[in-house]
Amino acid sequence: MPTGDGLLVRLRPIGTISLTAFKELCAAARQYGNGVVEVTARGIIQVRGLSAASAPRFADAIMLLSIAAEDGIPVIANALAGLDPAELIDAGALAADLRRALTRTSLPGRLAPKVSVAIDGGGALNLDTLSADVRLRAELVNGAVALRASVGGDGASATSLGAIMPSDCTEVALRLLEVIAQRGRDARARDILAAEEIGSFREALSSCPALCRASTSYQHEKEKKDVDGRDKPGHDSNPIGTYRLLDGSFARGVALAFGHAEAATLERLADAAEADGAHGVQIAPGRALIAIGLTRELANNFAAAAECLGFIVRADDPRRRVIACAGAPVCASALMTSRAIAPRLASIATPFDIHISGCAKGCAQPRSAAMTIVGTPDGCALVANGTARDTPFAMVSPEDVPAAIARYAEVCRV
Ligand code: SF4
Repeated sequence: MPTGDGLLVRLRPIGTISLTAFKELCAAARQYGNGVVEVTARGIIQVRGLSAASAPRFADAIMLLSIAAEDGIPVIANALAGLDPAELIDAGALAADLRRALTRTSLPGRLAPKVSVAIDGGGALNLDTLSADVRLRAELVNGAVALRASVGGDGASATSLGAIMPSDCTEVALRLLEVIAQRGRDARARDILAAEEIGSFREALSSCPALCRASTSYQHEKEKKDVDGRDKPGHDSNPIGTYRLLDGSFARGVALAFGHAEAATLERLADAAEADGAHGVQIAPGRALIAIGLTRELANNFAAAAECLGFIVRADDPRRRVIACAGAPVCASALMTSRAIAPRLASIATPFDIHISGCAKGCAQPRSAAMTIVGTPDGCALVANGTARDTPFAMVSPEDVPAAIARYAEVCRV
C-alpha cells in the first residue's frame, strides 16, 4: 500500500523462520526498502520505502526464502505453538487446519480484510491482548481440553459462546465467520454484537456438540486458573523472557523499541542468536522476536547482546509503555513526528501507557490507552483513557508535549 515514503509491504510469518532466511529478508529490506523493519503489535513484519520498481524485486527475493506466511484471512496462533510444553493443545496445527479449510470456501472473498481468528493453545504466551472477530482458547473442562469460543474482542472483552471440543475447531470457526460474512463485506463481529447481541452467533453453533455453553462474558481472571483453581504457569501475553521448549532447548524473546529497528541491526541480532546456538526466530505479537534453540546459559548471552544492540530485554523497560505509529515523515497522513518524540516520553517513565498517533486514524493502537497523543492541524491533542478519535482534554504544541506528559504523570502519582 502507498504511504508517505513509498510503498509498504506486510508479511505475516507462520512459525519459525531460519536465521539465514531472516537475515536475507533484512538484507532485502535494506536493498529495496528504506532499511527499517517494523514488527507490529499483531506480530506482522512491515517493510517501508519500496517503489513500484523495487517492490516486485523485493517480493521475488522474499519468495526465494521459503518463509511460511499467510495471505488469506488472518488466523493467529500463539508464538511458540507446537514448541511449548505448557500448551494444552497445538494451536499452530489447529490454525493450519482452519487455513486449509478456508481455501475451500468463499469466505476469504466475502469478509472484510481485517476480520481475524485467534487460536490460543493455552501455553506460556497467550493472545489475550489481541482483538479478533473469532477467538478459540484452550482450557480444561472437567480435566479434558476444550476450546472456549468467543467473538468480537480481546481476551477480556470478547463475548463467550461456551466451550467446544477441539475436533470442532474448524467447523465452529467457519460457522462464526459465515455469520459475519452474511452481514456484508464490511461487517465485523463487534458490530454484529452491538446491533444484534449474541443470538446469531449462538444460533450458528446450535447443532455443534458442546461441552458447556456459558452465556456470560469471557471471564478473564477465571481463565488464569485451571478447573482445580491452580494458577496456570507462566500464562502471559508479554513475549519478553526465556522459555523452555519441548525439545529441551530454550527460546528468548526480545522486543523492538517502539516496534521498529534498522535492518542492519536486526541482522546483527540474528548473528548474535546464531553465535549462541539458535537456529531460528519467531515474530511474536507485542512487537517482539523470539530466538529459538538456545541453551539456558546462552539465552542470557543472547539477551545481553540484544540489549547492547538497543533491543528491549526486560518486560518493565519504560519503552514498552510507549506505542508510536510511523508518523511524519514516513506516513503521508501524519501531522506529528511520532517516533521522534517516543524516546523522550519513554524517558519520563510514566505510570501509564502512552499511544502516540500521527493522526486520528490510530493505526498503532485502535483500542483505548491511558494517554493518547494525536497529531492534528492545530497541534497535539491529549486524550485521557480513550482512542485517537476521542475528544481531547488539552491541546499543546509538539515542543510542549514532554513537559505536559510529565505534569500529567505527576498528577497521576499523587
Ligand atoms: S495513525 Fe495516521 S500518521 Fe500514524 S501511521 Fe496511521 S495513518 Fe499514518
